[in-house]
Amino acid sequence: MSEERRKRINRLKKMILGTIVALILIPVCCAVVFGVSLVKTKQQLLLLQEQLIASEKRVEELEASVGEHMEPVEEQTAQVDAVKEAFAVDTEENLQELYDTARNEEVLEGYTEPEQTEDGIRRIYLTFDDGPSRETDVILDILKQYNVKATFFVLGKDDEVSVAAYKRIVEEGHTLGMHSYSHRYREIYASVDAFVNDMERLQNYLYEITGEKSEIYRFPGGSSNRVSRTGIYGLIDALEERNIAYYDWNVSSGDATGIPTSKEDIVNNVMRGIGDKKNAIVLFHDSTAKKSTVDALPEILERLTDMENAEILPITQDTVKIQHVEPKEVLQ
Ligand code: ZN
Repeated sequence: MSEERRKRINRLKKMILGTIVALILIPVCCAVVFGVSLVKTKQQLLLLQEQLIASEKRVEELEASVGEHMEPVEEQTAQVDAVKEAFAVDTEENLQELYDTARNEEVLEGYTEPEQTEDGIRRIYLTFDDGPSRETDVILDILKQYNVKATFFVLGKDDEVSVAAYKRIVEEGHTLGMHSYSHRYREIYASVDAFVNDMERLQNYLYEITGEKSEIYRFPGGSSNRVSRTGIYGLIDALEERNIAYYDWNVSSGDATGIPTSKEDIVNNVMRGIGDKKNAIVLFHDSTAKKSTVDALPEILERLTDMENAEILPITQDTVKIQHVEPKEVLQ
């Protein structure tokens, strides 16, 4: 072998060796580089995960704290709504009724009493408007205690307490009369149709709950109210066509006046109002705001049940018509 050839072989060997080394080193280097970057990425991922968990925790904390603040707000809103609901009848709408009741007192000045009944028995009808309320059960308890039946001219309310009250009124033998579903003067007195729709809505609603069809009505503000935009005779006709009798009152307990009336005043108003009337329909209000009505009731019942030749009765279709505005036919 010549010197030249050996050198070439050696060069070749070195090249092969270099190539092998390179072939080994390059992947190893790559692996190391990738390995390092993988570790770094993993670390970053872990860091991100931790941050994510921390963020989620913070969000939960924030939500919880918002919830804590929201709950009282919701609670307060519900309370405000409840108060508004309870006093709805006693605010805007009832202001008109207060006015009407006061004016009805004037109307009653010239009011002619119905004929005396032949049997000489005096008949007294206690009526409670605007319920059910949180006082209805108390009123019913007192009536039960004195074994007296009365008449409730109710509104349309769908809360549990009211639904139970409608049922109890019927079950205990009282008359469930209607006093409009909404008691909103502007709505019910807008037209005959609006009036009839409201009345039938209440009539159907009460029938669904109690299984009894109410056929007794009291106009919000009485039949002599001046708020009705449509003539009262049209409304009276609409009721008569549907065989519904309407009743006003000839004795006011005075519990609807804006200024809180004392228990004593209510007792006196009722007893003086009944006087020697042969037929008396007494107006009370079944309203959460009318606590003194409830306070006065036992004493009134005590005195009335002591009266001789007097009966306390629920209103029926046969009850003598005490109406501030009489149907046209009667007037003619
Ligand atoms: Zn009313």
